[in-house]
Amino acid sequence: MTSETPDDRPAIRRWTRPEYPTLVQRALKLRCPRCGEGQLFSGFFRMHERCSSCGLKYERAPGYYLGSSYVNYGLTAVALLIAYIILHYKLGYSNQQLAGPLAGFCVIFPLLAFRYARALWLAMDCRWDPAMMTDEED
Ligand SMILES: [Zn+2]
Repeated sequence: MTSETPDDRPAIRRWTRPEYPTLVQRALKLRCPRCGEGQLFSGFFRMHERCSSCGLKYERAPGYYLGSSYVNYGLTAVALLIAYIILHYKLGYSNQQLAGPLAGFCVIFPLLAFRYARALWLAMDCRWDPAMMTDEED
């Protein structure tokens, strides 16, 4: 009774907005960006619908995770650039030697980074969208 408003609706919970290092840490652990407790994924590619701890809805809107493909693209481009600089300029591999392996890298790396790109996308939204810090939108 104490947690309800006078008109018998449940009280709206408000969360403290996590700082960037906390959000990145939670994303790298594939945990809910709002509470840091609930797991984001139930399989390698399958996400839970909501956080098991705080109830945050992970699929914010239809097509919500389209933006995570940009995060994934950015991660892949940076990793490819670093790999190329090390392999070509430091270790002396030619462009012909690197073309095949780096093309394979561009296929495999985004698959491995898929979950982290989604977690980072959700974490960024948690930082910028005030609606994620209340239970109001549910
Ligand atoms: Zn949560």
